[in-house]
Amino acid sequence: MIPWEKIDTVLLDMDGTLLDRHFDDFFWEELVPEKFSHLKGISLSVAKKQLYAAFKGEERTLNWTDIYYWSDRLGLDIVALKMEMSGQVRVHPGVLSFLKFIRDLQKEVVLVTNAHPKTVQIKLGQTDLSPYLETILCSSDIGVPKEALEFWKKAEEVLLFDKTKTLFIDDNEAVLHAADAFGIKYLLQKSNASSRRVQISSTAFPPLARFDSLID
Ligand SMILES: [Mg+2]
Repeated sequence: MIPWEKIDTVLLDMDGTLLDRHFDDFFWEELVPEKFSHLKGISLSVAKKQLYAAFKGEERTLNWTDIYYWSDRLGLDIVALKMEMSGQVRVHPGVLSFLKFIRDLQKEVVLVTNAHPKTVQIKLGQTDLSPYLETILCSSDIGVPKEALEFWKKAEEVLLFDKTKTLFIDDNEAVLHAADAFGIKYLLQKSNASSRRVQISSTAFPPLARFDSLID
């Protein structure tokens, strides 16, 4: 399915792609609203309404994944809460064997994420993936999120990859469209981003259900 001999670089998203997005869905949609409702003395449904509107307003910005921004704005210690919950981080099935496979093929492997560097540190600390991810590029390093074409232009300057010899895997369709517009040749959309939620996959990019299906 993937012509490995034509690929030098593999770019991988973290949340929803390597890691089960259930962690994030639960964290932001259930746990944070619950803590916020206690803090403000409001009902859970009102807290959810306020927070979902606030999250929506920051979509596709760096604030969206900036845990210090949300700590300040909400008056909650999001970093401490993440650390407290970090035992719930789960790696998707087949990821580790896939990372071993591409390491053995001597591909350049880069984690490319909108997640905040502190979040990356907390989450990867709960997994055994770090030795396989030589380079980590957070969109905060670039200054714009992955949904922006500008991200990819700057990422190319920093990482020096050949976009015609690069495979990029992400669960976010808007991100994949930006990477496509930039010219990354091989694109896959991780399906089943959350183990608990049925997701209708797009038809724009080939879906990847399990990473070990890429192993020859
Ligand atoms: Mg993702």
